[in-house]
Amino acid sequence: MRIYQLVQNIRSGYRPNLDEIEELLRAEGPELSHIFQAADEINRQYNGNLVHIRGIIEFSNYCRARCAYCGLNAENRELKRYRMEPDEIIEVAKEAVDAGYRTIVLQSGEDLWYTREKISYIIRRIKALGDVAITLSVGERDFEDYRKWREDGADRFLLKHETINPKIYKSLHPHSTLRNRILCLKKLKELGYQTGSGFMIGLPGQTLRDIARDILFLNNLKVDMAGIGPFIPHRGTVLKDAPAGSSEITLKTVAVSRLILKTTHLPATTALRTIDGTGAERAFRAGANVIMLKLEPYKYRRLYEIYPKPLGPEKSIREEREEMVRFLQSIGKEVAQDRGDSLRLTERQ
Ligand code: SAM
Repeated sequence: MRIYQLVQNIRSGYRPNLDEIEELLRAEGPELSHIFQAADEINRQYNGNLVHIRGIIEFSNYCRARCAYCGLNAENRELKRYRMEPDEIIEVAKEAVDAGYRTIVLQSGEDLWYTREKISYIIRRIKALGDVAITLSVGERDFEDYRKWREDGADRFLLKHETINPKIYKSLHPHSTLRNRILCLKKLKELGYQTGSGFMIGLPGQTLRDIARDILFLNNLKVDMAGIGPFIPHRGTVLKDAPAGSSEITLKTVAVSRLILKTTHLPATTALRTIDGTGAERAFRAGANVIMLKLEPYKYRRLYEIYPKPLGPEKSIREEREEMVRFLQSIGKEVAQDRGDSLRLTERQ
């Protein structure tokens, strides 16, 4: 009975505490079904029945960071590295805009070869293609870089906090600190970026209590977007033998996040879709409202191996988007036609 009442209270604006969020994350059976249903209803109430399809260009797999979970980490000597030339990135973005994309996500390892000026050039050229939003996801950089790129027209920035548990964060990131990551997120918000964060499910040592704290952190930061996906072990990392995160807990976390965060954009993450063939559909029934599709040529996709994932047969950018549109329609979703800016943005104005 308690869970039903709690869900009702949250829907009416009550802010749950840590114990209560953990209780929601422990729900099973009919109570869990009720949480999924409520998350779906809240999503429809705030975001409509819409899914935003974003295009992502993973433009470099060079990385100076040493994240213990990530196949791109600087210590993985087995990985063949690549960098796309700025004009090559712009070409891909153009093809994507022509195919109907209204958001281009530019993601890479932390690669300083892309100087402030190079990224500025890429942003300005992509913005000139039309009414298209740019999301950057290039990790921790100098605040002056963040400032300049915002001035150049970058709209959004994704920087996951990965885990809010300081001990786990420290054990996984020998090169940086949780404090700095949070400072970056605050700076990005201050600069007016629509700011996304997020975390992984199933990191070694992580408990449901930690996950509850992660959700509260997102809520306190008032994030515009949040990526929540399972950890997947990569053979080229020290965590190669650790078990993958659970898709069930990931879905529960997405649903509970939707109950609490209301308008925040929540993707059906690629990691979830990788470990669970029906992950996308399940996430869209549990409150997710965004999906990202890769845009870079396949020769690069093979090498952007954060974690192992299968690559389907080669298709064009347009074909892949159309296939996704058909899939979304087949599960009763509508495809958003606008840029899908943060709903918090309208609240802020
Ligand atoms: N370098 C940028 C950064 O750190 O924000 C963007 C690229 S980084 C590879 C993108 C995301 O990949 C990270 O935020 C992390 O959550 C996710 N990731 C990395 N390794 C992963 C793994 N083994 N399993 C699941 N997600 C992983």
